[in-house]
Amino acid sequence: MSPNPLRNIPSVNELLESPPLRGLVDRISHNVVVSTVRTVLDEMRNEVQTAASEKTLPSVSDLAERIAQRIVAGEVPALRPAINATGILLHTGLGRSPLAEAAIEEMAAVARDYASVELDLGSGQRSQRKVAVEGLLRELTGAEAAMVVNNNAGATMLALAALAAGREVIVSRGQLIEIGGSYRLPEVMAASGATLREVGTTNKTRLGDYRHAIGEQTAALMLVHPSNFVVVGFTASVRLAELVELGRSQKLPVVHDIGSGAMVDFSQFGFEGEPTARESIEAGADLVLFSGDKLLGGPQCGIAVGRKAWIGQMETHPMARALRVGKLTLSALAATLRLYRKPEMARREIPLLHLLTTSLENLQNRAERLAPQIAAAKAVAVAEAVQETTYLGGGSIPAQRLATWCVAVKPVGMSVDRLAAALRSGSPSVVGRVQQDRLLLDLRSVLPRQDTQLVAAVESVERG
Ligand SMILES: *Cc1c(COP(=O)(O)O)cnc(C)c1O
Repeated sequence: MSPNPLRNIPSVNELLESPPLRGLVDRISHNVVVSTVRTVLDEMRNEVQTAASEKTLPSVSDLAERIAQRIVAGEVPALRPAINATGILLHTGLGRSPLAEAAIEEMAAVARDYASVELDLGSGQRSQRKVAVEGLLRELTGAEAAMVVNNNAGATMLALAALAAGREVIVSRGQLIEIGGSYRLPEVMAASGATLREVGTTNKTRLGDYRHAIGEQTAALMLVHPSNFVVVGFTASVRLAELVELGRSQKLPVVHDIGSGAMVDFSQFGFEGEPTARESIEAGADLVLFSGDKLLGGPQCGIAVGRKAWIGQMETHPMARALRVGKLTLSALAATLRLYRKPEMARREIPLLHLLTTSLENLQNRAERLAPQIAAAKAVAVAEAVQETTYLGGGSIPAQRLATWCVAVKPVGMSVDRLAAALRSGSPSVVGRVQQDRLLLDLRSVLPRQDTQLVAAVESVERG
C-alpha cells in the first residue's frame, strides 16, 4: 500500500515560517495570512483525495509563494480608479461622473477632520445638515426649498411616500419608464405606498386624460422625462405648463422627474430637450426631482427642489432618515454647485462638461499623437487614429450621439477580447470598447492628464 499522500502536505505552522508569508504577517495581518493558508491547504487536501492518480505536491517554498500571491492579489481593492476609454461619458458601470477638483478638495477636507455636519458654527446651536447645499440649490434653480437624498430613485420614492401614500398618482402610460440598473417607475411607486393611476396610451396622452382621472383619491400629478428613449411618429404628450395649470385648478401638486438634472442649457452643446431644474420650477412644477451624478456632474445623490410645504413633508417623513446622505456627498455637491455660479467655470472645471465640450480637433490631435506610441507596444500589431461616434450615456442616461476620435488597436497573437481583459485588469485599469476585430480606445471620455497612463497601460500588456 502506498503511503498516505495527505501526510506530505505541510502544516500551517511550517508555511507561516516561510519567508514570503512571514513578511505578509507583519505587513497585512496574522489572521488574513492564516485563513488563506488554511483555505489553500483545504483545497490541496481535496485535490489529493479526488485525484485519479498520485499527485505530486509542490514544495513548501513554491506553495508559500503561491499563497503569498493570492494574498497580495486580494489586497488590490475591487473598487479602484479606472481610465474610461469607452467613450460613454456617463457610464453607470464606471460610476457616472468623475468629480471636479474643488469637490474632491472639499470632500477630502471634511473627511479628514470632524465637520460642522449638524452644528451652526456661528451660534453653536444644532442646525440641519443640508443648510449649505440648500441655499445653493435654491439660488441656482429658483425653488423655495431643496433636499438631498441618496439618489433620484430615493428622491422619487420619498416624494411619493410623503405626498401620496395610500392615494393615487396620475402618470401617462408613455412615461412609465424603466432605466438601467433595475429602476422601474411602477415598482418604485408601489414600494412608496402610492397607487399608480395610468392614463393615456403609450404614444398619446392628452390633458383630458389626466383631467378625467382626477378624483377623491388623487394626491398628485406626475410627469417623467423620458431620459433614455424617444417616442417618434404619431405622438402627443402634455407639456408641463398645461399640467401645472390643471394641478393648480384642482389643488394638486405636480411632481416632475427630470432625470438628468442639467444645471445649464444643454442645447448649447447640441443636446435638445434636456429640461433644466430652473425651467421646470419656472414652469410651475411643485416638486422637481433629479440625479446629482448625471448631467450635473457631481456626486451620486438625488435632489428634490420645490415648494417648501412639500419638501417639508419629505423631510419629516420617517423614510427620510434612511435615505439621507453623509458629509462627503454634501460637501462634494456644494462645491460642484458653487462652480455653476459662473457657467464658464463650470464648463472648464466639471470633468463631464469639460469632456463633453472638448473640440474634435483636440481629440484628433491626441489620437494621432497616441496612435504611434501605442503601435510600438509589444502586444499591439496595429494602432491607428480613427473618427468614430459615441454616446453620452446608456441605460439610465440620455443616449445622444457624440462625434469622437479613438485609437483603434489590433493585438498580436491574442484575441481582441483578451487584450480588452488584460487592460481592464491592469493597473491603472483601462476600459475600452470592443468593435469587431479591434479595441477602440475612445478619447472622448479620457482626461488629457491620463493620456500617458493610457499608453503605459498598453505597453505593460504582455504579448500573447
Ligand atoms: C436616472 C433616472 C432616474 C434614477 O436616478 P438614480 O439617481 O440613478 O437613482 C429616475 N428617473 C429618471 C427620469 C432618470 O433619468
